[in-house]
Parts: sequence; C-alpha cells; structure tokens
Amino acid sequence: MTLEGHHLIGFASQAGATGAQSIEAINPASGEALAPRYSLAGQAEVEHACRLAEDAFLAYRRLPLEARAAFLEAAADNIDALGDTLTERAMAETGLPKARLEGERGRTCGQLRLFAEVLRSGDYLDVRVEDALPERTPMPRPSLAQQQVPLGPVAVFGASNFPLAFSVAGGDTAAALAAGCPVIVKAHSAHPGTSELVGRAVQQAAQDCGMPEGVFSLLYGSGSELGQALVKDPRIQAVGFTGSRNGGTALLRTAQARPQPIPVYAEMSSINPVLLLPQQLEANAEALGEAFVASLTMGAGQFCTNPGLILALSGPALERFVDRAGEAVREASPQLMLTPGIHAAYQQGVARLDESSDVSLVAKGKATGHLACPCQPHLFRTTATAFMGNDALHDEVFGACALVVECDSAEQIQQVLAALEGQLTATVHLEEADYALADRLLPLLERRAGRILFNGWPTGVEVCHSMVHGGPWPSTSDSRTTSVGSAAIQRFLRPVCYQAMPEALAPDSLKADNPLGLPRQVNGKR
Ligand code: NAP
Repeated sequence: MTLEGHHLIGFASQAGATGAQSIEAINPASGEALAPRYSLAGQAEVEHACRLAEDAFLAYRRLPLEARAAFLEAAADNIDALGDTLTERAMAETGLPKARLEGERGRTCGQLRLFAEVLRSGDYLDVRVEDALPERTPMPRPSLAQQQVPLGPVAVFGASNFPLAFSVAGGDTAAALAAGCPVIVKAHSAHPGTSELVGRAVQQAAQDCGMPEGVFSLLYGSGSELGQALVKDPRIQAVGFTGSRNGGTALLRTAQARPQPIPVYAEMSSINPVLLLPQQLEANAEALGEAFVASLTMGAGQFCTNPGLILALSGPALERFVDRAGEAVREASPQLMLTPGIHAAYQQGVARLDESSDVSLVAKGKATGHLACPCQPHLFRTTATAFMGNDALHDEVFGACALVVECDSAEQIQQVLAALEGQLTATVHLEEADYALADRLLPLLERRAGRILFNGWPTGVEVCHSMVHGGPWPSTSDSRTTSVGSAAIQRFLRPVCYQAMPEALAPDSLKADNPLGLPRQVNGKR
C-alpha cells in the first residue's frame, strides 16, 4: 500500500489545504525524515470530520449490536492483513523492534475482537428493569428501565509509545466504536505513516460493513491547533488521550472551559512504585535486582507502567539488590527512544536527578554514539527523608530511569507511600512472613494505584475483563475508569432511565420479552 499523506475524513481521502504546514516522520535511529509529508489539518477539516461524525452518530448508535461487532472484527482482519507493511513502517517511525510491534499488532486486533464479544454479550448495556406496581400504596410505581447509551462523537489522541495498541485503532478507539460513538483520531505526529495504514484499514472496514460515513476519521496536525480545535468542537462529547502531563492537563482545561464541559480520559504520568518487603528481599535480593532491570529497560523504559521507584528497608539485603541491579544496568543493551523530543526530555530528567544533592548515581548503561535517539539506562538512590522533602524527585522521567528509596522503618515506607501522587500500578514483592506488613500497606496502595501486583513486574498489561489501567491523578485524569480491557467501554457511555415508556417505543434491548436475550436485572434480581 502506498502512503499518500492524506487525511481520512469519512470515506474520503483528501490532501490538506494548499499552503497548510506539513510534517514528516523522523527515523529515531538515523535522524532521517521519512516520506511522505503530511499536511496539517485546520478548522475546515475539523468542521468536516465533526459534521460527518455527528450525522453518523444518529445512525450508528441504533445499529444492531451484531453489525457493530462485525465492523470491529473487519477492522481487526484488515489490520492483520497489513502484515510486514505495517510493522516495517512502524519500526522505521518508532525504532521499536519487530517482535514488539508484531506483538502490539496482535494486541490491537485482539482488543477489537474482544469488544466485538462484549457487544454480542450485551452485558455492557447493564439493563435494569422494574415492573410497574399500579396497586402500590400510598403511591403507585410506574414501570422503569435503565440502559447505557453512547455519549456521541469522541476525539482520540494517538500515543507515541504504543503506535498501534494506544493509537489509531487502539484501546480508546475500539472502546468508543463499540459503545456506539463515532471516533475522530488526531494522529500522533511521530508516526503518521503507521497511522495512515491503520486508518485506511478501519476506513475500509467501515465501508465494507455498511457503516454510516463519518463513523471514523483520521486527521494529522499539531496538538495546540488541531487537538485544541477538536476538543473545543461542540459535537465532540469525550476525549481519550495518552501522553504528557502538560498535554493532558491542557486538554482537560479546554474541555472544562467549554460551554458544555466534557469528560477527558487522559493517561499522563506514573512512576509505579515497587515495594521490596524484608523477608522476600533477604531471600532473593540478587534475582529481584536482575528482574527489576529487565522490566526497567524493556522498550527503553517507554511504558506507562515502567517501574521508576523502588522502596525498601535499608540494610545488607538492599545493598545486595542495588549491587546486582547496578551491574544489570551497566550490562543493558543499547536501545532507541521513540522521538527526538522524548529523548531530549529523558536527558533533561536524568540530568535533573544527577545534579540533585539529594540523590546519588548507582549506575548508568552504555553510551551509544551511533544512534540519533539513544536511551542510556540510569539507576539512582536516595533516602526516604530526602525523597519526602523534594517533590521534584517524585516526577516521572519517561525512559529507563529509576530511583531506589531507602527507608529506616516500615512506618517510613508508609509515609513515603502517603506522600506519593496517584499511580497506575503499585507492586509488592513479598513472602508469607511479610503478609502482616503487606496487610498494613494495602489500604494505602488502594488509595494510590489502579492496579496492585504481587511478586511480578508492572510492565505488561493483560487485555481482559478485569484489567484496570488507570489510577488517581496524575496517572490519569479520571480514576474511575480503565483504558485497557473490556471495562473501557464504560468511558463512552451514560445511563438513561425510561419511565412508563410505551412498549411500542421501547428499543429491542428493553422490550418486555427480551428478544435480544440480554442479561438483565429484573426487579432487583439477576
Ligand atoms: P505529548 O507531548 O503529550 O503529545 C501527545 C499528543 O497530545 C500529541 O498528539 C500532541 O500533539 C498532543 N498535545 C500535546 N500538547 C497538547 C496541547 N497543549 N493541546 C492539545 N494537544 C496536545 O506526549 P508525547 O509526545 O507522546 O511524549 C512526550 C512525553 O509524554 C514523554 O516524554 C513522557 O513524559 C510523556 N508520556 C507519558 C506516557 C504515559 O503513559 N505515562 C506515554 C507517552 C508519553 P503534537 O505533538 O502533534 O503537537
């Protein structure tokens, strides 16, 4: 498939306006620009895509669940069929290795197919029915029924660090389309070619499956212009975002300043604390040190769940852990970072820690002069007192950089946890003799994190029904939802109650004889 560098608006593929500014992807290994150029969308393209999305919404939300499920599956099949064309372009644009991108493609298609299953089960509609009680005294009860309905057109911002699974047809897009919401994607400027390939696959599926035009559009442009214009558009009813704290916060402010504020689901920054409890640390210090660095350096540390903070009691066992982890950092193979901007931000974050008198360097990885955007892993250490007295040490350094915090006592571990911001994950390494301490820490961990792991590492997020990939601010802007797994559909739904609705008007999902065979709660019972 030849890349055209065009916006995909509804079923059309169109060049940007004459004279519009343009971008090219940069290969992070060589620093070279990758053709074609993508002209940036302006207000005209936003207006066109939003008008089509609004028109499509009226028809799309009423389609049978099976029709939406078939569309998602067709999109997955088309993405699968892109094969090496997709992985090779994504490798050139992101520097991520082939195996990682093939895995991510599988995950992306798996997500779309998971949501097709969710639609077929109909569970997500959460239908609740209460029969009328005309004889009830002192007041009769009318019939009541509740179901979830889609919010309306959704703006999705593709993420840099998951060019497939959190981008054009990633988790937010799959969840919104499944919910019945048209989607307008703002492509991440770092991988426009990957975005175009996936966008075409979704666009083709929409056409082949007879979806209303406007159910999906893909635009290229800058965050400050295209991104802001999309979020300001009154037809957009929710936003999905993964990226920096500055970007997510800016979008949240814009969404809240609208005459009609809308929800923004922004995933932003998390340092993902890992607690090494005393007995487990004593028994396995070296193995933990090695496994920690494998997780820290995976994907050059560019995972939102990267383990950036280690908490443990000071003592010989912690020294053994630090020694082994330091060795593993020094031995780590050189890797590439995604973009020159992310590379520059990493260098600044590492320099900030290096220059801090509160922190000392444990180890750094090999320098790699031949790559344009190399990631040199870094491991630092500090004390709990210094950490709690210096907020700058709590900031995410996006990349393979972590800080070990030595605590004097179990109480000090609790104090450090209490001082942390919200996190996507918290990990506890423990054995049975540590359970009493873990039991005391658990309520704090629940307040701080969306996912609590035991004896594992936070990188690697299962796409399933029970996953929570979310957490309190600033890990996300709304801790009540997840961006991974089938529960993500709830982001793009709201409940509506129908009181005394004539049966003739009831949608199939609420008809008395339940023709869709949906799981329902009837008069308080499932
Ligand atoms: P980013 O700069 O926040 O960009 C993400 C997307 O948001 C891009 O499409 C960008 O547009 C847009 N955007 C940025 N600022 C905006 C604004 N004020 N208004 C509207 N749209 C805006 O993130 P990134 O480029 O992917 O990575 C930069 C940093 O983000 C990393 O160094 C890291 O700190 C953080 N990050 C965190 C995670 C995580 O999951 N925790 C994941 C990825 C990145 P344009 O760039 O096209 O203008």
